[in-house]
Amino acid sequence: DSALVWFRRDLRLHDHAALYHALKAARRVWCVFVFDTEILDPLPRADRRVEFIRDALVELDATLRATTAQPGGGLIVLHGRAVDVLPALADTLHVQAVYANHDYEPAAKARDAQVLGRLADLGIMLHTSKDQVVFEADEVLTAAGGSYSVFTPYKTAWLRKLDGYYLRAYPTERYADALAPRPPELQRPVPMLAELGFAPTNLHELQMPPGAQGAEALLDDFLDRIDRYEDSRNFPALKGPSYLSVHLRFGTASVRHLARLAWDRARAGSRGAEVWLSELVWRDFYHQVLHHHPRVVTHSFKPEYDAIRWEHGKHADKLFAAWCEGRTGYPLVDAAMAQLNQTGYMHNRLRMVTASFLCKDLGVDWRRGERYFALQLNDYDLAANNGGWQWAASTGCDAQPYFRIFNPVSQSQKFDAEGKFIRRYLPQLAKLPDAAIHAPWLARPVELAAAGVTLGQDYPEPIVSHEDARQRTLQRYAGVKSVS
Ligand code: FAD
Repeated sequence: DSALVWFRRDLRLHDHAALYHALKAARRVWCVFVFDTEILDPLPRADRRVEFIRDALVELDATLRATTAQPGGGLIVLHGRAVDVLPALADTLHVQAVYANHDYEPAAKARDAQVLGRLADLGIMLHTSKDQVVFEADEVLTAAGGSYSVFTPYKTAWLRKLDGYYLRAYPTERYADALAPRPPELQRPVPMLAELGFAPTNLHELQMPPGAQGAEALLDDFLDRIDRYEDSRNFPALKGPSYLSVHLRFGTASVRHLARLAWDRARAGSRGAEVWLSELVWRDFYHQVLHHHPRVVTHSFKPEYDAIRWEHGKHADKLFAAWCEGRTGYPLVDAAMAQLNQTGYMHNRLRMVTASFLCKDLGVDWRRGERYFALQLNDYDLAANNGGWQWAASTGCDAQPYFRIFNPVSQSQKFDAEGKFIRRYLPQLAKLPDAAIHAPWLARPVELAAAGVTLGQDYPEPIVSHEDARQRTLQRYAGVKSVS
């Protein structure tokens, strides 16, 4: 009996639920990854995530070659429509079953349902397991059996349910004997980016170590800092967070392993670890929101907010373009967008600030910002991104109340007081004094002159007045509230 393990967003060999179940059940196991043209075709031709995935596959392939007892081991990599090429491969290999881990995004669920049908027609089973989250959508429910739409009670219930059992690693290495050599015609190296139709990006210039080894290195580094996480996490110039999000996104890190480490540390009294564990709970929380309310992908969680009249037409396009390109005249917002555009990462505090700025200072529909982040973020995850945007736009479950509007200048003064982060991404403002860097239009002419900054030339004037925008936003939201 033989089996095929289909890797998707779980690009590691250790602590891998589907691989473990396949290795235990079958005597011969092959591993495959499909570069799915349905996902790749709409992407821009240079995409850091495609390169990140490719790097992870090269590592996965090397580890499989080294682990498979007979020569010819390694990863099978296909390029095509997954719904076509995956069942065809399973058929060619004459496996009895395909194993994969659950993917919760609506498009992935639809794809998996189609694959299940095609495999069934061939007499092949599809077994899927939980792997990507600690608790799936229906594992943490209210006493009445409903789903949670507020985070704090969800977190309380999540922590109450947590038990070492759920965080135990799947010991795949114990059963590695079942890994089978690939048939000769499938012993091909992982395709180059160009073969997939993609150009290289600046990924390798960024401090973003790839693959499971990269995740391990980041984790080692973070464990030295985790106790201070609560104090440092909000300051974008500091190395506060873990930077593990891209690894959680593509499964080069195991969420069980991370949660286990944090949980142990938290129980030993580390407040930083306790707060960090909560972030992993947010991750599960937004996954279950998406599962129970798939309409959030295109609609407000709170339906009355779908009636909001956002800015529209050319005016909105202009505002949106300035936001995307970091030309709003608000240094913290512009520096954050530069970080996103240059690296594919943005600090969490800045995701909140820039998202709030787009919706509440520029009055642009949150869905446009959500789509822009989706294209740019290395760690883009539909559930977390949608949840974060709806939180910032006050349209979501457990959202920030609409009348609490971030002030982009005071956020800057509070979280980047010395302007270190701003200077890193906006070198044209580097010479402004700390007090002036948060709102250059308020600087004295001598300060601007001494710093070599001419507003409107080296750096834009503010695109809107925050105070006026705030009033407009209050009216925009209040109007909706009164009709609903
Ligand atoms: P850490 O602070 O080290 O957090 C550890 C892990 O917890 C993260 O890697 C992530 O997996 C999870 N996490 C942390 N915060 C959240 C959160 N609020 N919601 C869900 N999971 C969380 N996160 C994504 O992974 N993908 C996204 O597409 C995404 N889009 C966002 C959009 C907006 C508007 C906002 C406000 C937040 C978004 N987040 C998203 C959440 C958060 O900003 C990132 O997870 C975090 O900045 C990643 O950096 P880190 O790994 O260093 O975080």
